[in-house]
Amino acid sequence: MSKVEVKSLFKEYSGRQVLKGITFSVQKGEFFVLLGPNGSGKTTLLKILDLLEEPTSGEVWLNGEPVDYSSSKERVMLRRRIGMVFQQTVLFNMSVLDNVAYPLKVRGERNFEQKVKSVLELVQLKGFERKNALTLSGGEAQRVAIAQALVTEPELLLLDEPTANLDPKNASIVEEVISHINREKEITIIMTTHNVSQVENLADRVAILDGGRMELLGTFQEIFRSPSPNKNLAMDNIFHGVSRITNEGTSIIDIGDGVHIEAAFKRVGNVTIHVPPEDIILSKYPLISSARNTFEGTITQITDIGHIVRLRVKVMSIKDFIVQVTKRSFNEMQLNIGSKVYIAFKASSVQAN
Ligand code: ADP
Repeated sequence: MSKVEVKSLFKEYSGRQVLKGITFSVQKGEFFVLLGPNGSGKTTLLKILDLLEEPTSGEVWLNGEPVDYSSSKERVMLRRRIGMVFQQTVLFNMSVLDNVAYPLKVRGERNFEQKVKSVLELVQLKGFERKNALTLSGGEAQRVAIAQALVTEPELLLLDEPTANLDPKNASIVEEVISHINREKEITIIMTTHNVSQVENLADRVAILDGGRMELLGTFQEIFRSPSPNKNLAMDNIFHGVSRITNEGTSIIDIGDGVHIEAAFKRVGNVTIHVPPEDIILSKYPLISSARNTFEGTITQITDIGHIVRLRVKVMSIKDFIVQVTKRSFNEMQLNIGSKVYIAFKASSVQAN
């Protein structure tokens, strides 16, 4: 099952299509990344590959055999060969050893100490066996979750944004661990992320999902260094909403959850908009600005990409904006995960598809 083929996959929830004809294949030992904004269908796709969800139509083939989703016996058997790490780590109030050993105990294995020790070494948590799992940092807990997924020696490892809730230091340790596992163990990995630098650091190939469709598939070089850079921007700050024209001849787009964005164009009805991250101004203090769009938010993710730092700012606790600042201004502002910030952008920066 180290080879994964996805053929014309569709998934509907209550009549709404969240995956729209996805096709790709992943080779044995490949590190494959699914990159896309929130709501693009990444987790749904992983859950289908983990056989937790059934596709509405289309097929998944594992090691050259189609999966029969209607057979719960087959699902159980195949799931034993797949490891999945979810975005939110859920560990039990017991030792790290007992947490990692849990999947083995469920299978009735008795002699698990050595196996647990060796996976803990693999995730750089040697000596953590007796610690209570609930006392660990976010990064350590995430590595315990990875150890838990690896202890059964899966052929395929599915990772759902494994660094999404971590600070940069812990995120880079987790990245190092994942990359090491992929190289040393030759495990096929399929990982989701929002983070372009992770694609550059880790992926053999990347598929870009947007609105349930696969927009692009290729190596980092092919996609991000290609002559059509517009697709690079296509992932961040994309919002779907309903637009109306104002008395001033601009448009107000209601993107839901109480967030309204003003744009310089005139459009009525459903519209997909894009705000380039580099057009957004960031401040620690309320902005006195002529920019029509100003929002208060909280930093939920920090990604260092050389001299630029990309920040994820959550507005109204729900909408994610990606903002770019230079490393220098990032350091000067002393920003951190959880910092309250203000963002602003001009109506003329809002682009419509
Ligand atoms: P991503 O992981 O890229 O953020 P998801 O796969 O979680 O995207 O979600 C894709 C879309 O499917 C979203 O609009 C989400 O609300 C919807 N969705 C996901 N799971 C369910 C579910 N169990 N029932 C209904 N809608 C769902």
